[in-house]
Amino acid sequence: MLIDTHAHVNFKAFNADYADVLNRAMKENIWTINVGSQMETSEQAVKIANEFKEGVYALVGFHPLHVMNHMDEEKPENFDPKRLEELLQDKKTVGIGETGLDFFRLPKDRENEIMKMQKQVFAQHLELAKQYDYPVTVHCRDERDEAIAYREILEVLDDYKDVKAVIHCFSEDWEIAEKYLKAGLMISFTGICTFRKKAEAVQDVAKRIPLDRLMLETDCPYLSPEPVRGKTNEPVYVEYVAKKVAELKGITFEEVAEQTTKNAKEFFKF
Ligand SMILES: [Zn+2]
Repeated sequence: MLIDTHAHVNFKAFNADYADVLNRAMKENIWTINVGSQMETSEQAVKIANEFKEGVYALVGFHPLHVMNHMDEEKPENFDPKRLEELLQDKKTVGIGETGLDFFRLPKDRENEIMKMQKQVFAQHLELAKQYDYPVTVHCRDERDEAIAYREILEVLDDYKDVKAVIHCFSEDWEIAEKYLKAGLMISFTGICTFRKKAEAVQDVAKRIPLDRLMLETDCPYLSPEPVRGKTNEPVYVEYVAKKVAELKGITFEEVAEQTTKNAKEFFKF
């Protein structure tokens, strides 16, 4: 059994075939957690999870990339913590996400203002997580050499020591991984670790990371792993991520499947 701990079968790309996609995964004994990125997709994640008896769950949250739109005066995108709180009451909601910081290519003239608002929205998610004892899936991206987002993620999380968190779609090097692990966080891998180019740093982390700190995900419809790159990604392909981790660690696929599934079940409490 495997758990795709971060999928977006709740996104438009799957409107026509989400049930088929999820059933295909279930048939392979792969469970899926669909993750919201704004209010509508969070609602959709919860709705879809409730159409399945077991094996499909939801996370609800507001992605940092949408925070800028939220600040748009003419056409603001709605971040609604009250509505999030309502969605947290659903029995199929197993956590909060995705939230975090994304400082990738921000408009230079509004950089500080946007970063500040992202931190504020991230903290609001953590406040809810603390209040309701939910784990949090954290998104972090920053293109600068002097990676500010990573430091700030840890800084914000430091005020919420009781909140369990996972850094999703980890794509950095061991130096940053070590900092996250020391802070008590889990790390989650996507298909990036299977890529033939620019994957050395992540593959090095895969070799070194203790297996009990690792979870697996697709982040579908994005980031299709080898050997299905170019196709639309879906939960069933999380198997390729597991296989690659096993190969890198020099252990069996079964060991990776068993431990990462256990990690996910403990983390999300189901
Ligand atoms: Zn995602």
